[in-house]
Amino acid sequence: MIRCTSAAVDLDAIARNYRALASYFAAEAAINTRAGAGPVTPPFVIAVVKANAYGHGAVPVARTLVDAGATWLAVADIEEGIELREAGIPGRILVFGALSVSDVSGVFSHALTPTISSPAAARALAAAATARDVRLACHLKVDTGLHRLGFRFDNLSRTLPEVLAYPALDIEAASTHYATADDAEDPLFETQRTRFAAALETIRGLGAGPRIVHAANSAASLRDSRTWADAVRPGLLLYGLVPPPMAATLALAPAMRLTSRVVAVKGLRPGDRIGYGGRHEAASPMSVAVVPAGYADGLDRRLEGRGVVLVRGRRAPIVGAVSMDMLTIDVSGIDGVSTGDEVVFLGAQGSEPWQTIDAREMAAWIGTIPYEVLCRLGARVARRYD
Ligand SMILES: *Cc1c(COP(=O)(O)O)cnc(C)c1O
Repeated sequence: MIRCTSAAVDLDAIARNYRALASYFAAEAAINTRAGAGPVTPPFVIAVVKANAYGHGAVPVARTLVDAGATWLAVADIEEGIELREAGIPGRILVFGALSVSDVSGVFSHALTPTISSPAAARALAAAATARDVRLACHLKVDTGLHRLGFRFDNLSRTLPEVLAYPALDIEAASTHYATADDAEDPLFETQRTRFAAALETIRGLGAGPRIVHAANSAASLRDSRTWADAVRPGLLLYGLVPPPMAATLALAPAMRLTSRVVAVKGLRPGDRIGYGGRHEAASPMSVAVVPAGYADGLDRRLEGRGVVLVRGRRAPIVGAVSMDMLTIDVSGIDGVSTGDEVVFLGAQGSEPWQTIDAREMAAWIGTIPYEVLCRLGARVARRYD
């Protein structure tokens, strides 16, 4: 039994996106090498599968990426890492989040690699590693201007010696994270890049020799190869979307197709008002179709009057309130819409350009980013992998 509102996830598309990225980095590195402008070695990909793989399903996506060649995955917290390990996912798993209020035992029991972003986290992990008589590989996070997690870039000679002195911690990597990589105008990107370069010198000067340096998310990795270092951390690109407003010629394909079906069609007379609040009034006779998908499925209430769906290969506007479990679309101009017809929220229905809706377009309608559109897909929506 499966609800008619479901998300078909194309795992082959995710594997192809991964390979397209790997070849893009290899090709660009080769061009840079010929031009004498480094980086010479293409970065490896730390494949980001946090937040249930951006709504696509963490375990099947992680398995696909590992099979496609990913040796590193990244998740937001220890719990997400444990979920992957319990499903038998091999390889390295990096945990991005702060560990200050976490039970860190999962790091050891499930072979996860933590990010250290404060002296307190280092202390807690060192104590836990010492108690277990192991040496724990960790990634050191430097805050170069995002001002979220990490050791401040300009205070490292004060904060790091303690961290580097713990024999139980192996600082195998150093990283940072960009705040404005998607904005070509904002000078903070360049500022962060130079701060990170200086921070790496300080870190090395303190005697740490991180073997891996990584900094670039999807936007940074597309924007500037000088951010690549040893590894890059794309998320959104793996799911086939370029972070807006950027454009790229990479051959990526969105991996999610979100569909439902028409469950009722009805005619409205002039003056009839549709849905909660009665905000949409029929000016002339119209036909609406009811679709059993609403905000509980992750469809934003702001889609009312802004978004469209595909039905019978045509674009039909969402009219009236998006409610918890259903919404209504205006099918007045579309011949023959009937119960059972497929409704596409994300994906293609036909081969014309306007017969495709992706998460970037939906995000633009409602004033958000495609990340949020994908991650908010409700738990009630079955993910299909056929
Ligand atoms: C989520 C995340 C990424 C991936 O970001 P995208 O924009 O999806 O490529 C990379 N690094 C860190 C630290 C993140 O939290």
